[in-house]
Amino acid sequence: MFDILAATKNAHKIEEFKELLGAKDVTILSLLDFPDAPEVIEDGATFEENARKKATESSAFTGLATFADDSGLEVEALGGAPGIQSARYAGPNASNEERIKKLLDNMKGASSRKARFVCVIALANNGEVMETFTGEVKGTISEEPRGSNGFGYDPIFVPDGYTKTFAELDAEVKNKISHRARAVKAALEFIEDELSTVDGFDE
Ligand code: IMP
Repeated sequence: MFDILAATKNAHKIEEFKELLGAKDVTILSLLDFPDAPEVIEDGATFEENARKKATESSAFTGLATFADDSGLEVEALGGAPGIQSARYAGPNASNEERIKKLLDNMKGASSRKARFVCVIALANNGEVMETFTGEVKGTISEEPRGSNGFGYDPIFVPDGYTKTFAELDAEVKNKISHRARAVKAALEFIEDELSTVDGFDE
């Protein structure tokens, strides 16, 4: 059993990480357990740069083995936007509803509704990144928001192979196929295969 830090304050992400890692022999802490941790400025140009920054800074501050994710929605008709700006697409203090409305407005008349969620997880120990992992899930943007599960852009994202949005699907389904689930799975395989003897990852 070891402690691992999920470097986020997003309660929805923390919940998803706990569900994804629930069967494993780890205790998951989050930045909500470290209220004095300095804010990490997400000024990287890519998901990977931001994930690396969050993981190194949080691992250095807490001394814990840490994973951090940076994630977002890329919409083909919008040239990949909102991308790394997903959380701030309609301004820093906008609500999920406002972000969704802006995105749907910007897509009016678009010939493609293709999109994908991307998640990059960086794994760090002692302030240094060991590895990064990418997960993605492809889908389409619905005409209207539907459903109330999940968070963020879930009400307008229909994963390929389904007719319901992520916000209409059970958390169990989302947690099997999501970008975050896929990146976590890759990170877990790495931890289990390669790192059982590294400081901070063993008992
Ligand atoms: P960050 O990774 O904390 O910088 O923020 C990522 C942003 O992308 C979130 O605030 C959401 O707007 C969006 N996002 C990332 N993952 C998901 C997801 O699983 N569902 C819906 N929106 C997501």
